[in-house]
Amino acid sequence: MDGARPMSAEGRAVRSTVPLDTPVGSDAKLQAPGQHLDQVSVVMKFGGSSVANAGRLREVAQIVCSFPDQLPCVVLSAMGKTTNLLLQAGEEALHARPAAVSGLAPLRAIRDLHLATAAELEVGPETTAEVQQLLHQLEQLLVGISIMQDLTHRARDSLVSFGERLSTRLFAAYLRAQGVPAAQHDAFDIGVITSDTFTNADVSYELSLPALREALTLPDGEAGPKPLPIVTGFLGRGQHTGAITTLGRGGSDLTCTLLGAALGLPEVQVWKDVDGVLTTDPRVVPAARPVAELTFEEATELAFFGATVLHPQAMQPAQEVGGQLGVRVKNSYNRGAPGTLITADRDMSAALVTAMVLKSNVTMYGFLARVFDVFARQKLSVDVRDLIEDELEHLMSAFQGIAKASYRRGMSIICLICNVQRTSHVLERVFNVLGRENVNVQMMSQGASKTNISLIVRDGEAKKTLTALHAEFFEQQQ
Ligand code: ADP
Ligand code: ASP
Ligand code: MG
Repeated sequence: MDGARPMSAEGRAVRSTVPLDTPVGSDAKLQAPGQHLDQVSVVMKFGGSSVANAGRLREVAQIVCSFPDQLPCVVLSAMGKTTNLLLQAGEEALHARPAAVSGLAPLRAIRDLHLATAAELEVGPETTAEVQQLLHQLEQLLVGISIMQDLTHRARDSLVSFGERLSTRLFAAYLRAQGVPAAQHDAFDIGVITSDTFTNADVSYELSLPALREALTLPDGEAGPKPLPIVTGFLGRGQHTGAITTLGRGGSDLTCTLLGAALGLPEVQVWKDVDGVLTTDPRVVPAARPVAELTFEEATELAFFGATVLHPQAMQPAQEVGGQLGVRVKNSYNRGAPGTLITADRDMSAALVTAMVLKSNVTMYGFLARVFDVFARQKLSVDVRDLIEDELEHLMSAFQGIAKASYRRGMSIICLICNVQRTSHVLERVFNVLGRENVNVQMMSQGASKTNISLIVRDGEAKKTLTALHAEFFEQQQ
């Protein structure tokens, strides 16, 4: 594993803070950033909402160029809702005649968005031809799905890969057209090597870290412009099949941290459409506010319990390289906001509850003595979690003869990420709130890691409970 260790970032990376206030708009001139540096100094990832259309791509280019002292590597997701549209196109192709594939609504929407973006960004004939070629290949793949009437996980990954392959080509060409040197890279060609578990592949750190480091390290002392690498998020290559894989929905976050770890950087930036990781999902509780600092463990726990803001495995690369990589979550719609900094350790002295997650529509199961064994055999953690239908059936049959097992649907888990040292104080306040709100808790558990307390309540009472708990811990003097 030694060869996989990235070199130290000392002397070549500058910790970034808030970007300069560059003017926003199509006419603002872009300056190529970090040309005085020898190597890439930061990875910046922009998600779907940050790159939804030509205007947003222009804005992202402004952000990327607003750190003159950084030589960024940029990771992009697919534009807007393209990944969903690609999956929808695949489903529709399954039931369409081959001749009708070309007219499928999701394919038309994808085609229109990318061709309009190419025209609006004036990327030039070469990139426009490349985009057309990819759109043609995409259509051929959909025709194949329609003829075979089969959509395997493997084909699904090839299908969704078009989103990131298109967005990165458009963005790199736009930067070049603006005089900023940029080179597009498909992650599966530069060393993101994964398991062959299509649609949810695991990164092989042993293979990927050295390969990526080699691919993205600039030659020593070479004169001339230093192109910004523009890399597809989400995608990898299966170690044994050699086919395109994906890292699971939201996987670009993981691509970003993986590249940062491979390059031995002190910081990567994940740019979203919110002011960082918030105290809870703002779509459920609009009063949610940004969390300034989190540990890797807290961020992982949040993602595991369903906060969609970060990919559950996104913290893994930082831990692989000994925790010296910081992950900053920023808002591409509000650049001045400080965002959230995620690191290996933080000062917990003032922390009580850091964030809350709500996961609805889960199933609760009962368990009795000797059950722990069953869980271990089924490779399930003895914890509060949701079970997919398949797992549930296996589990219930494994219970046969041991104990009477029961389960109940229509439940919600509310998970509180909190300070291990102060759980009794947290619980006391939680019970006060539950009493006041007259909510009946079905089950409660403290996770094995003890950074979380989970409550199970009925779906119908979940939102009210979360809102009240949020008000208790975040909307008043503590
Ligand atoms: P991106 O495409 O940039 O990766 P995502 O849509 O995957 O962005 O993640 C950001 C979204 O996650 C936010 O717009 C918000 O609606 C949702 N979200 C859910 N929980 C949280 C949370 N605790 N903090 C911030 N955002 C959250
Ligand atoms: N485009 C992929 C998705 O929508 C990956 C990502 O956005 O991170 O899941
Ligand atoms: Mg995401």
